[in-house]
Amino acid sequence: MGPPGAGKGTQGELLAEHFGIPRLSTGDMIRAALDEGSPLGERVREFYDAGRLVPDDVVLDLVAAAFDRPEAERGFLLDGFPRTVAQADGLGALLDARELALDAVLSLEVPDEEVVDRITGRRVCSSCGHVTHVRAVEAGTACPECGGELSQRSDDAPETVRTRLAVYREETEPLLAYYAKQVGLTAVEGVGTVEEIQGNLRAASDGVGAT
Ligand code: AMP
Repeated sequence: MGPPGAGKGTQGELLAEHFGIPRLSTGDMIRAALDEGSPLGERVREFYDAGRLVPDDVVLDLVAAAFDRPEAERGFLLDGFPRTVAQADGLGALLDARELALDAVLSLEVPDEEVVDRITGRRVCSSCGHVTHVRAVEAGTACPECGGELSQRSDDAPETVRTRLAVYREETEPLLAYYAKQVGLTAVEGVGTVEEIQGNLRAASDGVGAT
């Protein structure tokens, strides 16, 4: 859990690798549908571009399909989902049906001003998907990993970021109390270097998944 720009994608990828499980990101699933121009992509485009949440039923269908992929058999890390109470209830039902339960819920804590700076400066490589910040790129346009072209996500434009933060506060933040009560919630300091934050997350999830 965490606001847009908290580092869920970057950190989630590293943490999933650490546990040897896939990271299931609803944002990535939605971007794939948008890139493909599939009917689902066309249905959600206006929500995505405006920085609003796509309908719960669409997201729950995507997640259900992801749960049933063979690579998710040994567990998974959820990134950017659930984002509403209805999605959290839906997730509970999907897990119950598979006799699964959440091991941990982690919340990356990052102040608003840092979030706005990170999102508006975020650039993504169109070739390899590497995510970086304008300040970290000397030449301004080339991906430091592969030399590919960097671009800004359509929902990272400054005017959309304000909407996304408001949506987070209104619709997603209430889930922190929901999970604190249901599963237990671990707040994790989300400011620092990538390595420091990853260390915080690993310390917070120590022992998770052990049987
Ligand atoms: P993210 O990559 O997680 O920051 O998500 C980017 C955008 O994808 C969001 O602003 C929403 O438009 C959409 N999205 C991603 N995950 C969800 C979700 N769980 N529920 C609704 N919309 C989502």
